[in-house]
Amino acid sequence: MGQDGNELRLRKPHGATTETPNMPSEEGRKSDQRLDKHESYEFGGPWGVTAMMIGFPILMYYLWICLWFYDGQLTHPKSVDDITPFLERMWMHVKTDASPNLYAWKVYSGFFFFQLAIALVIPGYQQEGLPVPSLNYKTLMYNCNALSCLYVTMITAAALHLTHTFRLTEIIDNYGHLMTVANIYGFAWSFGMYFYAVARGQQIRMSGSFIYDVFMGAILNPRIGSVDLKMWAEVRIPWNITFFLAVSGACKQYENYGYVTPNMAFMCLATWLYVNACGKGEECIPQTWDMFHEKWGFMVIFWNFAGVPFTYVYSVVYMASHDPSKYKFSTPTYVALYATLLTAYYIFDTSMSQKSRFKMQTQGTFKFRKTFPQLPWGTIENPTYIQTAHGNRLLTSGWWAYARKPNYAADWVQSLTWGLCIGAASPIPYFYSVFFITVLVHRCGRDFERCAIKYGKDWERYCSIVKYKFIPGVY
Ligand code: NDP
Repeated sequence: MGQDGNELRLRKPHGATTETPNMPSEEGRKSDQRLDKHESYEFGGPWGVTAMMIGFPILMYYLWICLWFYDGQLTHPKSVDDITPFLERMWMHVKTDASPNLYAWKVYSGFFFFQLAIALVIPGYQQEGLPVPSLNYKTLMYNCNALSCLYVTMITAAALHLTHTFRLTEIIDNYGHLMTVANIYGFAWSFGMYFYAVARGQQIRMSGSFIYDVFMGAILNPRIGSVDLKMWAEVRIPWNITFFLAVSGACKQYENYGYVTPNMAFMCLATWLYVNACGKGEECIPQTWDMFHEKWGFMVIFWNFAGVPFTYVYSVVYMASHDPSKYKFSTPTYVALYATLLTAYYIFDTSMSQKSRFKMQTQGTFKFRKTFPQLPWGTIENPTYIQTAHGNRLLTSGWWAYARKPNYAADWVQSLTWGLCIGAASPIPYFYSVFFITVLVHRCGRDFERCAIKYGKDWERYCSIVKYKFIPGVY
């Protein structure tokens, strides 16, 4: 991207946050104020969000039942007369194999509060967040200790497993029970946080519809001591559980067959890469719009506590309960699968870090953090960008020269490989990629709408320079 008009090279990082170039102009403050007010409903308004709050948990149970009890195939009533018996069969599965029993409460709560406790006490890398308009552009500090916490959790889990205190296979064996407890946590925290925020007068951007505000959230920056609950929940609960579910599936295969299939090893690698990426690049998370714009409501809480952990790794659930001959590939297919994952991961990791580090450089808060793995092209030297009238800058180099959401495209390919790793054995593990593309397209629309309000004509200019959304020449 060349230099033309207002497109400039990045100057030396600035120091003081109050004088940084991404502090908004008067015009920028006005658009920020507008964005902090409720203007219109999203997700189909109160009716739409109610349908999602009821529909998602039902879908989770249905898919789990199909995987576990119907050989991974989508079961349905055989006739109109079969509808009631079908529903009774479904209910029996839930009642017997997904009850919120004491054991599941202990395991999920033990994990949950262990994560909270170590997040509170382990020192971490200190990262300053972006200026928050609703706090009069004050910045918040984030104690980034997710990576140390991940290693502590891995060592603790290994010790519990090897001493037979808690065998890791028990996670997959109790999948249904744990899923129900996770669902209860998701609902309880969503409603609890709504009432807490309102009682403390910390609500922002409220619509006035109770159910819609529970869904979207009321509070922007919930905190317990040094722990930002929204960031903590986004990383520590969902991605740790997906990783330990994969490890649990691998232990299960080892117990049953004496070996771990390359497919299961693939899921261990894929989930580890993801949880490790969230930890090693945690200082980049405060620059994502989940942190600086989305509130902490059902949409985020439920999905973090129950949705992600119990719907994204269906391939693991399938492999843990089916014979390896059902999903055995040729060597070239394994090579293609692993290569696709690693390429997509590389683009995901470096595109996220390029943009976040660019924002940190602009704000003057960028310091190189030594974590593993650091990939080439994670930071762009002399990036080009558009200087907006708002005050912020829009990056136009690196992966961001080719598409406006290169990270979404790469993230989606990763999600697809999480299903591809069992081939055509069951359609259910493809739920993640189908659901995720819907989320990403919708999320992209919401984000661009917000950016169009925030940046006005500068956003139009940016879109004319970086024409494609996800993949250059395609979309
Ligand atoms: P982005 O990292 O794309 O952040 C969007 C924000 O970045 C915009 O609102 C804008 O904010 C700013 N921005 C956009 N373009 C530029 C640019 N060229 N230069 C500088 N700033 C820019 O996306 P998200 O925060 O939505 O997502 C982060 C990651 O999380 C993604 O990779 C996504 O795939 C992943 N994710 C995964 C989920 C899962 O379930 N697996 C669910 C949701 C997200 P502003 O200008 O106001 O600062």
